[in-house]
Amino acid sequence: MRVLISQEELERRVAELAAEIDRDYAESDRLIAVGVLKGSVFFMVDLLKRLTVPVSIDFFQTASYGASTSPGEVRIRKDIDLPIRGKDVLLIEDIVDTGYTLRTILDLLRFRGARSVKLCALLDKAPAREVEVAIAYKGFEIEPLFVVGYGLDFDERYRNLPYIAVLDAGDSAAAVPSPS
Ligand code: 5GP
Repeated sequence: MRVLISQEELERRVAELAAEIDRDYAESDRLIAVGVLKGSVFFMVDLLKRLTVPVSIDFFQTASYGASTSPGEVRIRKDIDLPIRGKDVLLIEDIVDTGYTLRTILDLLRFRGARSVKLCALLDKAPAREVEVAIAYKGFEIEPLFVVGYGLDFDERYRNLPYIAVLDAGDSAAAVPSPS
């Protein structure tokens, strides 16, 4: 296992994202942060602790049916509890890979009448994208490697690592802070 993004880099970037979000939602009194379980939890907590604007929280949990049966079809395993009509929703996700999960959730949130919906994703595996997803707040762009830590698991392990690591290390791996 090889560290791809250190704890210090994560803390620095999360603080930058939080400052940006705080500025952008300064006038909003109806912000709801919606996390996608379970991977986004560590990122979401660190991010939201740094906000000064009022914010409610809620969660989705999704599952895919499996690429062999239903490619790109996403199942909502747990829905949010709060009503979101007229609210500003900030969707918080650990990683955007093919984009199917986020595409499905973003469409659903808009369909339900949110006033605004923006996506905040810690990691962006852009080369793996199959459907387009606009990421308003992005932590890092990474190569299409399988990563764990800081919420991300392999078979429910490694979520509590305080850094992002590559399980199957490759020499060309790199992560750069996303220009914002
Ligand atoms: P997408 O629908 O964009 O293909 O998949 C997003 C979800 O796939 C993420 O929320 C995450 O659960 C999982 N995922 C994608 N890439 C990785 C990865 O490199 N490591 C881990 N642990 N999960 C990943």
